[in-house]
Amino acid sequence: MVRKITTKKYEYEGKPIIYGLPFEELEEWFIANDEKKFRAQQLWDWLYRKRVNQFSDMSNLSKSLIEKLETTFDFPILNEKVKQQSVDGTRKFLFELSDGLLIETVLMPQDYGLSICVTTQVGCNIGCTFCASGIIAKQRDLTAGEIVAQIMHVQKTLDHLGNQERVSHVVVMGIGEPFDNYDNLIKFLSIINSDKGLAIGARHITVSTSGLAPKIIEFADNGLQVNLALSLHAPDNDTRSKIMKINRRFPIEVVMEAIDTYIKKTNRRVTFEYIMLNEVNDSVEQAQQLVKLLENKKHLAYVNLIPYNKVQEHHQYERSTKERVVAFYDVLKKNRINANVRKEFGHDIQAACGQLRSSQLAKEKRKRDAIIQTSQPRDQVSVTIFEQSSIH
Ligand code: SF4
Repeated sequence: MVRKITTKKYEYEGKPIIYGLPFEELEEWFIANDEKKFRAQQLWDWLYRKRVNQFSDMSNLSKSLIEKLETTFDFPILNEKVKQQSVDGTRKFLFELSDGLLIETVLMPQDYGLSICVTTQVGCNIGCTFCASGIIAKQRDLTAGEIVAQIMHVQKTLDHLGNQERVSHVVVMGIGEPFDNYDNLIKFLSIINSDKGLAIGARHITVSTSGLAPKIIEFADNGLQVNLALSLHAPDNDTRSKIMKINRRFPIEVVMEAIDTYIKKTNRRVTFEYIMLNEVNDSVEQAQQLVKLLENKKHLAYVNLIPYNKVQEHHQYERSTKERVVAFYDVLKKNRINANVRKEFGHDIQAACGQLRSSQLAKEKRKRDAIIQTSQPRDQVSVTIFEQSSIH
């Protein structure tokens, strides 16, 4: 069998997406197009408050302006391929983008509101060895508009149910490394945070990174008061490099120095995500190493211990036993490190990041292979897979 390996790299190729324009840029567009500046607020009311699906529904805009908007901008309605709902209320969406690529978005009911987890890239180059999303290399970055569109689609789904629920919290923790799509990330954050539109409070937004140290420092200066989470997952370089290839580029001491700079500049608390992998990173000794690592920032550090959701592509890992999680947690607590064991969501659906997308891609590949096999002699079969690229 001929095995062909290809890497596909796309850019978004459509017209600019209307959700991707920060308010000030929209005002500039109106002025440049001989329209009054206040039209920007009218348009945002239609987009984010009345939440219509097409320009032609914006009844206080003139016909000629609507035509101009239609010619200039895309109004994306993500194609919802799959929606799963868990018994605990978690909803998971698989969306098809305008170029046919697939992404995931998850809505989780929390005690404090409805929290949405959004995707920033199609695939991911970081290559964490426990993650379903990293199996397929990054195909392209999402635009700011495509990231906002995930929130809007989910909010409109809630509107449709008619029970006045609102997406109140956002975590940028879906497929992709947000800091590897930095400009679109910052644009997205400023759009959803703006009080002229969705007005999601900065303290209700969390961005999670695998540890791109220079970007952590840059993020400290962005002026938005959003929360930062670091996917740490191990307290020593040996273990972390095995489970997160990014650690070979930015080892723990470099990442922690960047975190120290971030804390110094912002005085904001940082969450340390720690996925519990049985007999990999969950020993009492490793808990003690973690305490040491956080010693100088105890007051502004919070550790989230995350139960591992097994993905079939990574059978080398198992979820930590309850006893090991408790022993690990106890060490943190005894040393006055703020920590909790994260509540699980959607355990009865494909809850791990990227699982729904990878199972859909596998399904589509099986279908394609079946077609190839029935239409070609076996020695001419060519299978195209995406190369797992190295860490950027
Ligand atoms: S855990 Fe996040 S950073 Fe790591 S491969 Fe998965 S999506 Fe990428």
